[in-house]
Amino acid sequence: MSSVYPRKAEPKLVDDTVPSDIDIPDNYVAHTLKSQKPLPPFSWKLWYKEINWLSFSILTITPLIGVVGAYYTPLRAKTFWFAVFYYYVTGLGITAGYHRLWAHRSYNASKPLQYFLAIVGAGAVEGSIKWWSRGHRAHHRYTDTDLDPYNAHKGFAYSHMGWMMIKPRRKPGVADVSDLSKNDVIRWQHRHYLELILFMGFVFPTLVPWLLWGDAKGGYIYAGVLRLCFVHHSTFCVNSLAHWLGEAPFDDKHTPRDHLITALVTIGEGYHNFHHQFPMDYRNAIKWYQYDPTKWFIWTMQSIGLASHLKVFPDNEVRKGQLTMQLKKLRETQEGLAWPSDSNDLPVISWDACEYLVSFSPLAFGLMPRPTVQEQSQKRPLVLISGFIHDMTNFIEEHPGGPHLLIKMIGKDATTAFFGGVYDHSNAAHNLLAMKRVGVLNGGHPHGLQDKAIPPSQRLKIARYNELSSPYGSSTAYSDGEGMAY
Ligand SMILES: [Zn+2]
Ligand SMILES: [Zn+2]
Repeated sequence: MSSVYPRKAEPKLVDDTVPSDIDIPDNYVAHTLKSQKPLPPFSWKLWYKEINWLSFSILTITPLIGVVGAYYTPLRAKTFWFAVFYYYVTGLGITAGYHRLWAHRSYNASKPLQYFLAIVGAGAVEGSIKWWSRGHRAHHRYTDTDLDPYNAHKGFAYSHMGWMMIKPRRKPGVADVSDLSKNDVIRWQHRHYLELILFMGFVFPTLVPWLLWGDAKGGYIYAGVLRLCFVHHSTFCVNSLAHWLGEAPFDDKHTPRDHLITALVTIGEGYHNFHHQFPMDYRNAIKWYQYDPTKWFIWTMQSIGLASHLKVFPDNEVRKGQLTMQLKKLRETQEGLAWPSDSNDLPVISWDACEYLVSFSPLAFGLMPRPTVQEQSQKRPLVLISGFIHDMTNFIEEHPGGPHLLIKMIGKDATTAFFGGVYDHSNAAHNLLAMKRVGVLNGGHPHGLQDKAIPPSQRLKIARYNELSSPYGSSTAYSDGEGMAY
């Protein structure tokens, strides 16, 4: 691939059926961010030069007309319900059409359904299918970077509508939409876009209440103008609220989040954490009880033969993401707890034989006698269980079975007595015992007792892939690596 980017602009005919990223260099993102200087930060001094006046006017004048108009226009029940209905219809044009069908190709739609979605989608007045999908594909491809047109890291207001109201600081990253350029319906919508937005945005919602129950003014204000404001902000919430509110049950690398409230205000686009992980899935909500009318609509279209090839990510892969996030949370809990010292961190103590250690310490150079359990237990209550020496100071009186049973075992191997010989201790008792380790018996653990040497709380443990070599791996030894495993 070419490593020279950007190329010198050459006067040539642009063939929009050729993928725009066909010659993309390997280091495109880093190179573009480094070599293409962004515009200077927004300045209030020359604010009128910073404004994108077309979007700014649409996004400010429409609500103004709506609010003033509503003040002078009584709201009739029929008109209200029609406005709500029309909100859903034009909203679905965006969610089921622009978003899931064209930006993500998550299902196939028959020609009648495509025309329907292109027409009602125009009623949402959010630009042509091609322009919208191009921006959205760049959003998915460069999420949370400066090449993402609605980068959530620039703040809620910016990702909601600021990105349309002021001139962008840099161009969105390259995203191919050559597949859309070949589509007849999209080309048709593009050719008639102005007529379509005027008719579907304002004329049609005025005509219906006028002809059916004589409320032209109410139709224009409520089903036309105010309905349009609601559709706008509903879509904008996918870029702002869905990147801000809620949980990340599938992956927390980027900002997308799942939340019912977002789903309610966006006709089901609120399970955005799932969506960014599995963008070609026709669903946003994977559970039957989650609110996703767009999914229900697509499924219904399939049932009546107007849609087909609904894409669904394999459940096995979806569950892997969920499990990874669950393990990550459990790992945090694990790291918040104190754990017993492992055998590598403890001094090695002999039973009673006089053994010698070679010492190179400047203070004690030569052969040093190894401490013994017998000798040490004269000074403090030491008990041997499963190859570990435990210091029972401060616990003798608290021993639930009575102090005498413990005192009896000082300086002795209590493994058998602890594991059912006298009393079959609970898992909690074993976990607590491990916290009292002060040494490991020279000669390792007696054969066959390895299982007993590991407290129940440590038998299932979450370890990063680079910690797997040591089953006792200290919980503080970790890297920032992504991988996790048992
Ligand atoms: Zn997003
Ligand atoms: Zn998307």
